[in-house]
Amino acid sequence: MSERSAGTLNLIFLGPPGAGKGTQSRMVEEKYSIPQISTGDLMRKEISSGSSFGEEINGYIKLGGLVPDHIVISMLLHRLKGDDCKTGYILDGFPRTVEQAKSFGAALAEKGSFLSGVIAITVADEVLALRLGDRRVCKKCGATYHLFHNKPKLEGLCDNCGTELSRRRDDEPDVIANRIEVYHQQTAPLIEYYQNKNKLHIVDGNKKIDVIFQQICGIIDELS
Ligand SMILES: [Zn+2]
Repeated sequence: MSERSAGTLNLIFLGPPGAGKGTQSRMVEEKYSIPQISTGDLMRKEISSGSSFGEEINGYIKLGGLVPDHIVISMLLHRLKGDDCKTGYILDGFPRTVEQAKSFGAALAEKGSFLSGVIAITVADEVLALRLGDRRVCKKCGATYHLFHNKPKLEGLCDNCGTELSRRRDDEPDVIANRIEVYHQQTAPLIEYYQNKNKLHIVDGNKKIDVIFQQICGIIDELS
């Protein structure tokens, strides 16, 4: 049995771009009534709200640098105090490095909290390359689509605003190969780190969405 503070489900989702991590965490969010928290979204929200975190973050981004870990972590801890996080949360896109994982773990421990588990979705690199190459985005409203899994109602056009869909530079084949490479370099140590802490649960992301979700639910139910 994993440790778990009374009734809380504090989860981290790891997975390469294109593994379906976003889809799965939204499904978990719904079933278990815990919010999915993406540090990327959180930063964008802070910036657009003009909060003090937002101004600080924007300063770093404007300078073209990375936002320092301690700022990302304080922003995150602030978010985790929200009422909707009382029974838990799913972190998506954080941590990205072992350093971040260590600092975050220490910050949680200081508050008498801890992670329930880390769920890593793995997918073969060739499959990822195919999936990402089929992603399309609306440059006007930001909606994302996939030529197989999440088709727009009208071919090539955004459902929300009718704008012609395009492929992000990030999803061009040469960039995809590089993104996958970077992911492995960054995440391999993180996977090992959580494995050593007995927190890691690996899910086979090559399966269908529903099958993956079943596996994830099985893991989560074991945590309780
Ligand atoms: Zn649109």
